[in-house]
Amino acid sequence: MTRRKTKNITGLSRIEGIRYHDVWIGLICLSCGSLNNIRIGLKLLDPKTTYETAEWECVKCGYLHSKNSDLPFEHWNEDFTVAESIKAQRFWEAFFRIATEHPESYWKQCNTCGRILPFSAFSKHSGWGPLERQMECRSCKGAINAVLNPKRTKEQLHESSIRRRIADLLLEGENETIDMEDLFKRFDRCCFKTKQPLDSNRRDTWAVDHILPSKWLYPLTKENAALLSTEANNNKRDKWPSEFYTNNELIELAKRTGADLELLSSKTPKINTIINVDKCVGRYLQVRERSHLPKRINELKKILVDYNLVDKLSPGNKKLLGFIK
Ligand SMILES: [Zn+2]
Ligand SMILES: [Zn+2]
Repeated sequence: MTRRKTKNITGLSRIEGIRYHDVWIGLICLSCGSLNNIRIGLKLLDPKTTYETAEWECVKCGYLHSKNSDLPFEHWNEDFTVAESIKAQRFWEAFFRIATEHPESYWKQCNTCGRILPFSAFSKHSGWGPLERQMECRSCKGAINAVLNPKRTKEQLHESSIRRRIADLLLEGENETIDMEDLFKRFDRCCFKTKQPLDSNRRDTWAVDHILPSKWLYPLTKENAALLSTEANNNKRDKWPSEFYTNNELIELAKRTGADLELLSSKTPKINTIINVDKCVGRYLQVRERSHLPKRINELKKILVDYNLVDKLSPGNKKLLGFIK
């Protein structure tokens, strides 16, 4: 698969022997404040059992984190700190629960920089280990991506966000209103990528994937909409479908939406040339009355040239934009 190739191209080597699927506990010592990391293995802990049995010893000061230990807080009253008190027991219960209750509670070791880092330092990788996170941390991923996409400098990222914004403006009025209930039905109320069930009432947990991105001038339509979890959609963003979905997923997607499979599976992005460029340009020039017109025209001309769409303009618009005299 591509992963092996990636490794060779980047020249960034992985650290041998790191068990990157393993979960770790991150523990700030109650007594000395040091960070301790304890390797747990491939199974997440059960909070209740952990409270009953854990004995986590601080490597720095030796304090034992266990429900049988007195709390080491000198400024607390003794009736709160003696292990036998109900107050201390409630403390311990919550203490072990915080460290174990969710996948997000855990830590993990990056096999590229070797650091043990909290859950949020790793990006999603479905089906990978108990935490379903990638083997390298997001910082290392940044370095790897810089090698893979050396052209994406800060300036180009800016350029690309302008392009996206202009494309979005051009498409205003071309987008259809999506019937969400119908969308949920078509996707069996599950994220198409991760298959996790989604609840239409919890609006922050799901998103409509613009399958063929607006950046390449595809409006949002019934055929161009997929149901994704918010997280999967954040990973998808502006990606061309074949960069994000597997071949099997593309086939399934075309079946469910009626989209053109050949287009979805094309290796490189294709600009939507079926769109009525004249109509879009007319609308683009009219909306947002108060924004800076010369700048707007320049940005528009650039995208029309880059996307090879100048020939699709009417003589009137060609003249208006200064493509012909
Ligand atoms: Zn300590
Ligand atoms: Zn790293």
